[in-house]
Amino acid sequence: MAFLSAALVVAGSGLIALTATGAFDRSDSKKTTEPVPAPATSVRTKTVAVPTTPTAVPSEPAAVPTTAPSAPATPAQPATPQRPSRSVAPTTAAAVRATRYVFPIGGCRADASQSHHDYPASDIFADKGCKFVSPVDGRVDEVTRVDTWNKKTNVGRDRGGLSISVVGVDGVRYYGSHLSAIGAGIKPGLVVKAGQPLGLTGNTGSAQVTPPHLHFGISWPTAPGHWWIRRGAVAPQSFLNAWHEGRQLSPVALVGKVRRAYGVDRGCRDYC
Ligand SMILES: [Zn+2]
Repeated sequence: MAFLSAALVVAGSGLIALTATGAFDRSDSKKTTEPVPAPATSVRTKTVAVPTTPTAVPSEPAAVPTTAPSAPATPAQPATPQRPSRSVAPTTAAAVRATRYVFPIGGCRADASQSHHDYPASDIFADKGCKFVSPVDGRVDEVTRVDTWNKKTNVGRDRGGLSISVVGVDGVRYYGSHLSAIGAGIKPGLVVKAGQPLGLTGNTGSAQVTPPHLHFGISWPTAPGHWWIRRGAVAPQSFLNAWHEGRQLSPVALVGKVRRAYGVDRGCRDYC
């Protein structure tokens, strides 16, 4: 599985260009509770994107932060709840109609796992340096810029490494982690558009011992720091598969249903 990739990496507010060549750099894994999903035996993946190669990650850092790809800034942005609410229903019906969903990795081949260990999520395998884009119009929710994961402690709070969550105008939260870089202007509260680059894929956090991938989770908004919900509470596969095919499929109903079934949030249950 050799590939060529050129990646632009943003560190803090600066930018560093680097070119990586070669195959997956998989370290001899010690003990990790995250299964190493690459060997296609354990995790079923679906090939989802192809068109362009990752070599085209041109002016990423400058472009990533604030500018929506094509759309002129439209103000139709309801104040998005960032704390648990009784319902994840969107603020207005207009917001629902305005919602467009896109596959969260742009410009790269990506293989989304059709299952996930321990809880609902998808590990989308893609070269390091691919664009992680907002799947929906919304607001940036939480941003983690520092990788504090430690193999020895392996606590859930740190497993995502560099991560970004977005609360969509549909009232649903979308989370991407293990990023190698985050756009300089990406911060909580920033209004983003579907397809807008937020960061670059990588293997920070617990993915240090796996091939690069985007851990993608769908959940309902919570208070900050509730990583056990944020990492994924609703199976995202059907939505990812639809978005990749250009079909519009909203997780709103399923998120509401799962949230009701989840009941009271009693906090962290594993990797605590
Ligand atoms: Zn994962």
